[in-house]
Amino acid sequence: MSAATELCAFLDASPSPFHVVASAESRCVAAGVPVHDFTDVDVAVFKEATGAIKRDGSLMAWSWPNSTLRNDAVIFGAHTDSPGLRLKPHPETRSAGFDLLEVEIYGGALLNSWLDRDLGLAGIVQTSDGRSQLIKINEPLARVPQLAIHLDREVNEKGLVLNRQTHMRPVWSTSQGDFASLIGHAAGSEDILATNLVLFDVQPAALIGSDESMIASGRIDNQVSCWAALTALLAGGHDRPVVVALFDHEEVGSDSTTGAAGPMLEIVLGQLVAARSTSTNWFDFVRSSTCVSIDNAHALHPNYPERHDPHHAPLINHGPALKTNANQRYATSARGASWIKHAAMTAGLPLQEFVSNNAMPCGSTIGPITATRLGIETVDLGIPQLSMHSARELCGVKDVAILRDLLVSLSRG
Ligand code: ZN
Repeated sequence: MSAATELCAFLDASPSPFHVVASAESRCVAAGVPVHDFTDVDVAVFKEATGAIKRDGSLMAWSWPNSTLRNDAVIFGAHTDSPGLRLKPHPETRSAGFDLLEVEIYGGALLNSWLDRDLGLAGIVQTSDGRSQLIKINEPLARVPQLAIHLDREVNEKGLVLNRQTHMRPVWSTSQGDFASLIGHAAGSEDILATNLVLFDVQPAALIGSDESMIASGRIDNQVSCWAALTALLAGGHDRPVVVALFDHEEVGSDSTTGAAGPMLEIVLGQLVAARSTSTNWFDFVRSSTCVSIDNAHALHPNYPERHDPHHAPLINHGPALKTNANQRYATSARGASWIKHAAMTAGLPLQEFVSNNAMPCGSTIGPITATRLGIETVDLGIPQLSMHSARELCGVKDVAILRDLLVSLSRG
């Protein structure tokens, strides 16, 4: 299977952060890497050469061969969440003969991209016996209908203005449906106390273009990076420690138990180092390791070239971009940049550079947060994409394979 086909299957299987973790878990288990739940893990597992810890929408996996004397780990960080629409705890409402759902906007979603799409529902439900269960209704259940142009005559000239509270409610029935029993049916339980559910576009990921050189899908930011990091870890053949950290809540600032500003990675790394106290210690580990924070970059947009820096605008299908920002919105230092450029050159893989236009605010990602928390040298890297934070984003087929190959070669370096 090609990298792009594998990625498309991963994207389709993972409509919520919890599903990203489930997809990651099944790949780990298939590769013989045991996955443990954070709440009941025994610290002895950190002695194992491979393993993973999952907690809600986050997963930390490692490969640290018992035979190696090296402690210069490479840590691949990425995020499992994507902007979109999430259900409120009491989502049911009615208006104009429709059953509607009350939603909360999660992260910096491009709201217009959620209009007139057939939406399914996925996430977790929590039952009264304490069980947390994944559900996925992969059917056209709901839709946020756009106002007709006849009722909004200037929309094409003046732009679409959407009220986040009133205009984003999807319709899901016209016959006074019972939403709680719909969810109960999907979960196979009537005993649901709480939910964390996201709406998602049911249109599957696709290779597009006459040359099939592009991938269109929801959640390309940042499941491409989750997929590539895991693939590099599970490819094996490392003689250095490799850690994959998939965080939730990046799109809302990373401040949570499972976000990059939370303690998960530090806990896991601390336990891994403590379990190898005869061969390493925290100080040596921190100063010799490198973190690669992988998150997508803005590709040069053919219709808006003026929004980019002309000398630092990566092109689709010309390789991943190294992201730098003097104001530390990205963590890449000159030392980190030279490390990864050298690795890409050695592997014969192309690398581009991204710096934002000074007149545009620069985004940020988990890189600076992990660097600040842990003090580990961090490099920000990511494939270029268009339509970032749209319900359906766009990236290049070649870039996906190049990112995977670069991470594989870093993990074996
Ligand atoms: Zn992202």
